[in-house]
Amino acid sequence: MKINRVLFFAMLCILLFAGCGKKEVPHKELNLEFYYVADYWDSYDLSKSAFPSREAFESATAQYMKEIEELLGIYNWWEKSGVQADTLEFSVEMGRIGHSGTNYLGKTSDKRLNSNLVLSLKALEAGHGADALLAHELTHIMCGPSFSQSLEEGLCDYVNYRVGMVSYIWDERPDWTRVEIFKLLFPRYLKAFSQDEQDKIIEKVGQEGGYPYGYETANSRLWYFYSELFVEYLVEKYGMETTLNLIRNGETEDDYVKYLGQTLEQVKEDWHVWMDEIEPSMSLKELDDLEQENIKKFDAAE
Ligand SMILES: [Zn+2]
Repeated sequence: MKINRVLFFAMLCILLFAGCGKKEVPHKELNLEFYYVADYWDSYDLSKSAFPSREAFESATAQYMKEIEELLGIYNWWEKSGVQADTLEFSVEMGRIGHSGTNYLGKTSDKRLNSNLVLSLKALEAGHGADALLAHELTHIMCGPSFSQSLEEGLCDYVNYRVGMVSYIWDERPDWTRVEIFKLLFPRYLKAFSQDEQDKIIEKVGQEGGYPYGYETANSRLWYFYSELFVEYLVEKYGMETTLNLIRNGETEDDYVKYLGQTLEQVKEDWHVWMDEIEPSMSLKELDDLEQENIKKFDAAE
């Protein structure tokens, strides 16, 4: 009896001691299950997309999720809301819509999560290895909602420029940064905007609240671009962990001070300086030529 008690305490001490050490949690993996509204590969020509077959789509989704976990350092991300699941069901739809979309994680039982993936058939059929923003949509699912839609979309695009097929123009860019390219394309994008309109769009970046513009409007596109550049800046200046804490755990705009030690206005002042200092490393003509070259290569490869 006494020995048992000593053993019991010894065991308890070992357990407590182990608990005080490294807090490394093992990286878990979810089983992925896919459900389709129709057999898209039978009905449509997706041979020039990033997913020429159903198997290719399912393995790409699993691969993208792994890469997103590594890029953001968010392992066991579904446990953030206290869910101990082992399976994620995807309802996959490919529709004749201009943009892809998703909804946040839902729960079908204690062990099972579900989400919808709606991918733009239009984008997939356009070819050149298009993946219809799959990495962007998966990031929505994996990171959940933010107090700032601008930060959330900025993060999803940040991931999308780094994970997956990305885009045929990014495939060969050994030493370009996203910011350089943006700066290069800037005059082209900004042609349609007066300075006053631009300032209004920039003002909305990083703010609390939802979408300021309708989908697929020119204003919205520019707002996405700026939001991504803002997140890129935050990651560079404050690091990934701090940036994600703000995006995922912040509740109001005041939380910029809580997580970054500065107000949104102060952060954005420095962001402008950062953007101004960037010099593109090629001309617009060189970028255009490279883009055309890569499109040809992609199309010839299949
Ligand atoms: Zn999005």
